[in-house]
Amino acid sequence: MEFHIQDVTMTYPNGKQALGGLSLRLGSPSLTGLLGPNGAGKSTLIRLLSAALMPSSGVIQLDGAPLKDREMELKSRLGYLPQEFGLFDELTVWQFLDYMAALKGIRDSRAAIRQVLQDVRLEEQAKARIRTLSGGQRQRVGIAQALLGDPELLILDEPTVGLDPEERIHFRNLFSRTAQNRLVLLSTHIIEDVQSVCDHLIVLHRGTILFSGAPERLIQAAAGHVGVFWEQDAPENGEISVTARVHTACGVRCRGVAGVLPSYARPEEPTLEDAYLYLISREVAR
Ligand code: ADP
Repeated sequence: MEFHIQDVTMTYPNGKQALGGLSLRLGSPSLTGLLGPNGAGKSTLIRLLSAALMPSSGVIQLDGAPLKDREMELKSRLGYLPQEFGLFDELTVWQFLDYMAALKGIRDSRAAIRQVLQDVRLEEQAKARIRTLSGGQRQRVGIAQALLGDPELLILDEPTVGLDPEERIHFRNLFSRTAQNRLVLLSTHIIEDVQSVCDHLIVLHRGTILFSGAPERLIQAAAGHVGVFWEQDAPENGEISVTARVHTACGVRCRGVAGVLPSYARPEEPTLEDAYLYLISREVAR
């Protein structure tokens, strides 16, 4: 499955341009992370790729044909976990998944439901009413319905929000396994999710792509731009953007990013979070 996005813009009816001239290729197998500050255009891009919206200009192709001619086909190949996921509180987990399976036109729904319940480790809750589940379990039901029918394209909008660290690790592993033969698009604010499983990263900012490539490449680009220093050594309004501050017995230890590191900062190996913040800080400074 391959998307080819060419010069796509999206302007909402109120005149707000959410995406401006985006060009991008996305193909399976891949676990692609979509990162960007609030309002960057991530949800808009997801809505375009799931054919819930049509672009104002430009073309999106799916496997070589315009997406607008393949809407029905796309829907049958798509699993989608939206950010706001309305669950039917009075239904049991099984009843809810059975309903979703019917909507998706899945024939052998029993086998499909059993499989996804096993994937998200909710077999024991199959007969529980959704209203009795914890926040993390409800999120797992949302992920289970997205996995129903073994979709070739899986779009997950903030899937690990509300999960505890152990559950997050379980799901990262599940997404990673799922992506072995599929295209999984993971929109998230949680940089660790991207760092640990994504082979491709897209950074969106103000409706444009700031970066698209392997996360390691973004990290390499930040080498020499990340440093640690003591706050007392830095002048006020120093030229370094502080990304972390820790109060210690010896003073406040800071970590920061800068185009040119000042002499009071000791260079450090960048993490993906540093690299992301460096990329965004350069853009904001423009
Ligand atoms: P993100 O998901 O990265 O937070 P969005 O795609 O939701 O970003 O939004 C991108 C921009 O488009 C924002 O400025 C947002 O206010 C605007 N926007 C999103 N949805 C609509 C809409 N339905 N009508 C008008 N403007 C919208």
